[in-house]
Amino acid sequence: MTGVGPKVAERLAKLDVRTVGDLLCLLPQRYEDRTAIKPIGSLAVGEKALVEGVVEISEVAYRRRRSLLARVADGTGAITLRFFYFNRSVEQALARGRRVRCYGEVRSGPAGLEMVHPEHRAVTADDSEPSDRLTPVYPTTEGLYQQTLRHIVARALAALEHEKLEDYLAPALASRSLAGAPWPPLATALLYLHSPPRDAAAELLLSGRHPCSRRIALEELVAQRLSLRRAAALTRTERARPLPVPSERLAAFRAALPFELTRAQAAAFDEIVADLSKDTPMNRLLQGDVGSGKTVVAAMAAVVAAAAGCQTAVMAPTELLAEQHFASFDRWLTPLGVEVAALIGAQPARARAATLAVVADGRAAVVVGTHALFQETVEFRQLALVIVDEQHRFGVEQRRRLKQKGTDDERVPHQLIMTATPIPRTLAMTAYADLDCSVIGELPPGRQPVQTVAKPQERRADVVERVAAQCAAGHQAYWVCPLIEESELVDSSAASALHAELAEALPNARVGLIHGRMKTGDKDTVMRAFKAGELDLLVATTVIEVGVDVPNATLMVVENAERMGLAQLHQLRGRVGRGPKASTCVLLYRAPLSDLARQRLGVLRETNDGFVVAQKDLELRGPGEVLGTRQTGVMQLRIADLLRDSDLLPQVIEISEQLLATEAKSVDPLIRRWVRGEAEYAKV
Ligand code: ADP
Ligand code: MG
Repeated sequence: MTGVGPKVAERLAKLDVRTVGDLLCLLPQRYEDRTAIKPIGSLAVGEKALVEGVVEISEVAYRRRRSLLARVADGTGAITLRFFYFNRSVEQALARGRRVRCYGEVRSGPAGLEMVHPEHRAVTADDSEPSDRLTPVYPTTEGLYQQTLRHIVARALAALEHEKLEDYLAPALASRSLAGAPWPPLATALLYLHSPPRDAAAELLLSGRHPCSRRIALEELVAQRLSLRRAAALTRTERARPLPVPSERLAAFRAALPFELTRAQAAAFDEIVADLSKDTPMNRLLQGDVGSGKTVVAAMAAVVAAAAGCQTAVMAPTELLAEQHFASFDRWLTPLGVEVAALIGAQPARARAATLAVVADGRAAVVVGTHALFQETVEFRQLALVIVDEQHRFGVEQRRRLKQKGTDDERVPHQLIMTATPIPRTLAMTAYADLDCSVIGELPPGRQPVQTVAKPQERRADVVERVAAQCAAGHQAYWVCPLIEESELVDSSAASALHAELAEALPNARVGLIHGRMKTGDKDTVMRAFKAGELDLLVATTVIEVGVDVPNATLMVVENAERMGLAQLHQLRGRVGRGPKASTCVLLYRAPLSDLARQRLGVLRETNDGFVVAQKDLELRGPGEVLGTRQTGVMQLRIADLLRDSDLLPQVIEISEQLLATEAKSVDPLIRRWVRGEAEYAKV
């Protein structure tokens, strides 16, 4: 950026601003109305106001703290400006007789009204009226003043008028509209957002719902999608080892299963097999609701790799899930003569070395683990398939590192990514535009839909009784603690208190506790005990959300359900109903329910279908609501919000395809404008 010194540039970099484009996309956090000069006599304590007057008295006082006091009067009244930090130039600017304009919050001080550290500037004879635009307040960082930032942005905006920031979407947007109105051009949108007119609906701008905000969000989403599409195109130029279909082995595998595959599982597997037989790498997302049976499909893919003499790495986000996968893969594959190894968490050095050796020499055809699998020390002989469970927990970079482990002969492994987070189609086509997608859209037969009920806190005693009855019948239950705040410390102490309460209320039940601040080993011990049926009730924070499979658990109680998002509640509910027994989910809430919370609980009572829940989740999310960002996938978005802007996604898909087809030269610069670390990302 021209005209910006190295110090300022460094601070701007902290805000991730490196180019003029970045700067213009640094949108205000809020706006201040400085369009009218207020008579000092009319000021009220607490308001923020622009005033103008002449300095009558200016002195440095040494009471409690050294401070500069300047008394400014405008004929209607007077106000004291108070500074604790000031230098000579501030003193001079506020010397007696100077005319100044300042903006700040009005407070009541020892000598009447005052402003502490107001923004101020000298007023000259030919000074203009105050601006007729709202003043932007930017997110800033230490040492970078609002005024500096405003100044730099204003300069960039002025340059916009002659230099122009290329509007790559203009051709595509000419024939489209937003809610019936034409889309604003890029420059118009940026000018409006940084410098809105006095009568602009600031709320609308800040919530991202103004057409000008949406124009920027649209562009960002298009750029992000193009970047993913390009990554996919790059993948297609890579080579992978083709893995032919081992029909006999697969038949033996299926014959040994205690169940038949569902039609959806078989169909998803067919898509996977077709990919694996090609000499370009598979990049497939396997979506399926909680309990739909993704693991067995993944295991069959591992059979395909093993039959070709190749290795498969299976990665899970937690040790517990890794152990669970290891148990399943071991149970299914070892009888077929496929050796399965585990690299999970802390192992004795000897055991670990032995495992590393069988992985390195290729004896272990399948290796199940957590992040440990990325480590430098893990060498594969012939890695041809990588399976990642619950992908949203794995970073792009981690996947890339694992992928590199397969490139012994320039060939990269096939990748299968599993997720239980149901993603509506347009969202998947945007957030996962680099992946092909298979969906397991049905549950295994015999599962009874989880019955969901909502109950106010006042009925807690009934719920405790219900738990007692389930435990007495030999079933197990979860009780998920109130979500207090984003603090594991507070949440864990609430969990401990709840544990004590329930242990006392249920003297005949074995009650366990698991929360985020426990050591991994301790968590696993508790979880294992619960899986083994040695505990009847498990009191937990939301750490049990992902993937745990305990088919004997039939009751899930969730406290403060009114404060949780739909997707999260659905995931929690998915911990029960995993066996043939009828299961119940009790959503405890604190009255009174907000309208939105009531609708959310209603959705869960009405449906068990994760895709319906996800769709409703999108519809019900109010602007500004933060309910977790599980669905945002791999995108790092600055301005757009996949949930808030989900209605734009169909256009995002169309426009990005149109650009690829007819405006190919715009694609690169558009990606560069919006996508951080694009260079590295392209390698994934
Ligand atoms: P998820 O898709 O949530 O990862 P899992 O793979 O853990 O689900 O499967 C859930 C349970 O269903 C497991 O106990 C699994 O063995 C079982 N299962 C998987 N497929 C079938 C099927 N076709 N019929 C019956 N049970 C199945
Ligand atoms: Mg799973």
